[in-house]
Amino acid sequence: MALHCYCTRPSRCHLVIIVRCNPAVRSCKRIMRLFSAKSLIALTTLTLLLGSATGEGDAGSTGKPPEATVLTLLHTNDLHGSIIYPGEPRGIATLARRIRKEMPHVLLLDSGDIIHGTPAEKLLEGRPVIAAMNAAGYDAAAAGNHEFDWGQRIARNAIAAAAFPILSANVVDAASGEPWGGLQPFIVQEAGGVRIAIFGLTTHRTPEIQWPRTIEGIDFRDAIEAARVLVPRLREFERADVVVALTHLGVETDRELAASVPGIDVILSGHSHTRLEQQVWVGKTLIAQTGSAAGHLGRIDLLIRRDDKDSGVIAINGQGGRWWGRDGVSAPLGREYPTQPLIALTASEEDDPAVSAAYHPFVERVQRHLDEELTSALEPLPADGVEHEEIALGQLQADAVRAFTNADIGLSALYSLNPSGLSPGPVRVSDVYELFGGYTRQHLVVVRAPGARITEMLDAANDGVVRLHLSGAQVRDDVLHIGDAPLDANQRYTVASAAHIIQEHLLGKEGVAVMSDNPEAAAIRDATIAYLRGHPPLENVVRPQLTSVAVP
Ligand SMILES: [Zn+2]
Repeated sequence: MALHCYCTRPSRCHLVIIVRCNPAVRSCKRIMRLFSAKSLIALTTLTLLLGSATGEGDAGSTGKPPEATVLTLLHTNDLHGSIIYPGEPRGIATLARRIRKEMPHVLLLDSGDIIHGTPAEKLLEGRPVIAAMNAAGYDAAAAGNHEFDWGQRIARNAIAAAAFPILSANVVDAASGEPWGGLQPFIVQEAGGVRIAIFGLTTHRTPEIQWPRTIEGIDFRDAIEAARVLVPRLREFERADVVVALTHLGVETDRELAASVPGIDVILSGHSHTRLEQQVWVGKTLIAQTGSAAGHLGRIDLLIRRDDKDSGVIAINGQGGRWWGRDGVSAPLGREYPTQPLIALTASEEDDPAVSAAYHPFVERVQRHLDEELTSALEPLPADGVEHEEIALGQLQADAVRAFTNADIGLSALYSLNPSGLSPGPVRVSDVYELFGGYTRQHLVVVRAPGARITEMLDAANDGVVRLHLSGAQVRDDVLHIGDAPLDANQRYTVASAAHIIQEHLLGKEGVAVMSDNPEAAAIRDATIAYLRGHPPLENVVRPQLTSVAVP
């Protein structure tokens, strides 16, 4: 049964038993209207006789000194699929299990960008990392912007597959205003008689960094405004003694959040990949972030009091530079505590067997695909230090996209390639994954664009530096030809490329219409894999196509 006391000082409320007995009665204020002052006195006496309803740690009116609860928060952020990685154990779950044995109340939390960043995550729609987090015993996570990379079906499935709640208080269905896709704004956990509210926030800048279709119908509301409404509710209506924010906003926005919204004890931050080696305080709010990709596990120990007079955080380990158990600072429960906020995760730490068992079958499923030998490279094909000129790899990408989509023009961008390029020797699927490091907005998009827009795009992007390459187009006698005919400014041509390249150079321009943009469809990487399968050995040979457009 959901237990709620809706008065402003619930820890002092002697009516809580009545509320528990009758959930239809929504507030103590309402109850007070139901009883006369005389009956209230009788009721209070009854409550005291029955005992305190707030459980362990509530000294109530017994005269005992207030008891305190030690709560340990373990946290990660921006895992990007790396909770475990083939051959590189991270040991998050091993450490968490060890600390759970040592400490009375432990929560394992994550601040978002989970299902993105490794070939296995891409190929299996984020299922491996979610399975590993389930096995690791995560208690909650925030939704990051990258959860939306591969479209809404995959994001919904990831949320549903998680055995822990995925939180965001500012991502809502645009039509209904309700939490989107199985997200929850917050949860309340009880530990040692204290109530811990945990809420999530997702960067409201997500629409600026996603392809529009992936987030169609989703409203990313202002995160700070959402917190301003929610936090007082958590304190008052949800009777939270501790409020923890899992934020995927970046540290700078977190500072703003802490300064603008009182009542948040701890902000477990994400998105900016910042490794906060020292505690950061803004007023009474502690901000912590661990970097990214499971390099570190964060740990925060809080001492929380809840009695009939007051409730809340008494102290946090390291607060004011005073670390428990050091320099004469007494350590609660007689235990040892860390003297810094981050625990380095190293390859020497064994993986937790349950996490390995959950994760590795996924990796084995994709390994054969990643090991497939597509062709070979006879010499290095560089992608670095080649500004101002066309390169073989840029042309290859553009050719692959055009071949895959049958568009008039295949478009590629040098900046989307890993600078290390391709090395001589076999070219495997895994090498193509390395060549295109990104996983966001990589799906192929086809637009129809007037010739004039194509010329403008090339003039702007390749202004003295070749950033874009074309396939299906060539400059002959200083005239750009599409196929065999000179470009016609008014004719519409189909142009295909990765979503982020189209978004940067063509989307929203006059006369440009999107023809296909399914985020679950093939990515530029898939087009390249298909193109290279059985391709003759690669040589670093360039066919100049655009140079006279770029450098008139
Ligand atoms: Zn992010």
